[in-house]
Amino acid sequence: MTVPLTNSSTSHSSHVDVLIVGAGPMGLMSALWMAEFGLKVRIIDKRGTRALNGRADGFHVRSLEIWDSFGLGHVFATHGTRVSQWDLWAPDGKGGLMRQKQDGTIGTDSSRFIPGTMHQGNIEAALIDAIKRRAGIEVERGVIPTRIVTDNTKMHDHTAHAVVVDLRRVNKEELGTWTVNAHRVQDGIARAERGHIDANVVPNDGSDTVPTISGEPGSTETVHAKYVIGADGGQSWVRRQLGFAMEGATYNAKWGVIDAVLDTGFPDFKKHRTILSPAGTVLSITRENNMTRLYIQLPGSDMDQYEDGILTAQHLMAAAAKVLEPFRLSYSYCDCWTIYKVGQRVSDHFDYGQRIFLGGDAVHTHTPKGGQGMNVSMQDAYNLGWKVAGVAKQQLNPAILPTYESERRPIAELLIEIDTVLAGNLSQKDRKTTLDANAAYDKLRAFNSGANICYEPSLVVVSLPPGKPVTSLPLGMRLPPFPIFNLASVLPVDLQELCPSDGLWRLLVFGGDVTNPTQLSRVNNLGMALSPLLSKFRSLEQSGPSFLVPLLLISYEFGYIDLGYKHIIIASSLVERCSPSCIR
Ligand code: FAD
Repeated sequence: MTVPLTNSSTSHSSHVDVLIVGAGPMGLMSALWMAEFGLKVRIIDKRGTRALNGRADGFHVRSLEIWDSFGLGHVFATHGTRVSQWDLWAPDGKGGLMRQKQDGTIGTDSSRFIPGTMHQGNIEAALIDAIKRRAGIEVERGVIPTRIVTDNTKMHDHTAHAVVVDLRRVNKEELGTWTVNAHRVQDGIARAERGHIDANVVPNDGSDTVPTISGEPGSTETVHAKYVIGADGGQSWVRRQLGFAMEGATYNAKWGVIDAVLDTGFPDFKKHRTILSPAGTVLSITRENNMTRLYIQLPGSDMDQYEDGILTAQHLMAAAAKVLEPFRLSYSYCDCWTIYKVGQRVSDHFDYGQRIFLGGDAVHTHTPKGGQGMNVSMQDAYNLGWKVAGVAKQQLNPAILPTYESERRPIAELLIEIDTVLAGNLSQKDRKTTLDANAAYDKLRAFNSGANICYEPSLVVVSLPPGKPVTSLPLGMRLPPFPIFNLASVLPVDLQELCPSDGLWRLLVFGGDVTNPTQLSRVNNLGMALSPLLSKFRSLEQSGPSFLVPLLLISYEFGYIDLGYKHIIIASSLVERCSPSCIR
């Protein structure tokens, strides 16, 4: 498809490496990658504020690993709510409910992190703070794109600013506002409140909670970008300009979602749980500020009759109370509630000409029940970010760019497939037996943590020739957590911590047992062969340090220090501490 370039109609123009449209989890995580690579980037959003309440909250372990790699692990550790156990409750055949199954929450067995919840607004706040501090990048609020075109004469040249986008700052009346429906219930009377909007997890000047237009309302400009990332959500303007179609079906069950401080007699309500009953289905998960999020499957189309407002929240809670019977349920405070219709779709394209990329809700929409929306969106950005940034920095061959879609489309499709099964099973109308939901959860477990994703062989994932021994590091998967001992710092550390997302490339050399002279000699020879390669990467950067950091990992049994490990892997910088002479 060709998008023609026409003359610009705006007042002034600028050039950037990457323009990001949309400052939700996908856009902000993309901006963070660009910040780490030191690229010139702008990020715009039509909204005047970040998310203020509701929306996504589930934080799965792979997302936590990614956050930790960006140095943000402490934010969730301090402000998130960890949830380590999941229960399934269903009718006991005597008119009550009983626990049918309990398990660790998804991913607890495959990561060094425990998953949990953190409000999307706070996740956005932490990312906004990180891009601002690290690279001075600020989200430009109240800004929309009005035209996007590519200069097809420049598309082959990845140093060229081949994408042209006209921007307009909205007028005050156009600025999107965030629905606030927080309220407190006391003695049967509900009173509206502002809610926890200002409870930021990071220092913040308030500009992201107070509706803002960055610049003169109504003013226009033209941006010339090497790349554009369309991170503008389910109704993506960028996707629609490109003429891409969302393919899939809409499942017509309606679910309510409510974040509230509850009063209940249900046992262990702080666990994550699924409750199935003849009156419907409730999913519950604990979250910050003593709140619990309830997803409530609404019987039939009952909710059509309800009016908007506090009354609806009370109806939602009444529907949940029926499901939980014979246990009592009421609430004293509601931070936010909403009703949504279940829909599952994937875009027919993820990019245009390897210059305009789409990710997150812009290319896949699904129900929130697996807690995947924000996670898969941030993981899309994690996959796309280093590829675009590496090519923009001329460190990587542009041929790598198609691997974004070849790797992420199957994930989006699997997500939709699992979500469809789960939605059907949890919908009271379609669920035949408790076991159906059980089986759906088993399928969900294998996928949802994000830690088990394995990409197919491609330009970035080698395939082992037949007959080669299978390694314990499956090719195409993320580097697993593994306790090691760092010789350079003389400290125990996790292997994942040696690979931060900081815009540098790590070359891991698994050196084996270097007490074996043959193996030592092989490692030494490799070290000598690598030396010129390292200076080559250094010279590309002109004056800066090498952007390739080699790390040597060796298997070694400590005879003289008892650290509690039998076999210890020692990691150290190959260049500075474990050069061939050092090992010898
Ligand atoms: P978004 O978070 O949607 O971000 C897109 C951004 O682009 C927004 O900031 C938007 O203002 C901006 N934008 C849009 N159009 C333009 C434009 N033309 N110009 C400039 N900027 C633009 N997930 C869950 O896991 N649990 C939930 O309970 C849950 N509830 C949800 C409730 C609602 C009402 C919605 C809409 C979504 C919910 N989700 C939930 C889904 C979750 O929020 C998303 O999956 C996640 O936010 C996706 O991130 P994203 O960055 O791709 O898109």
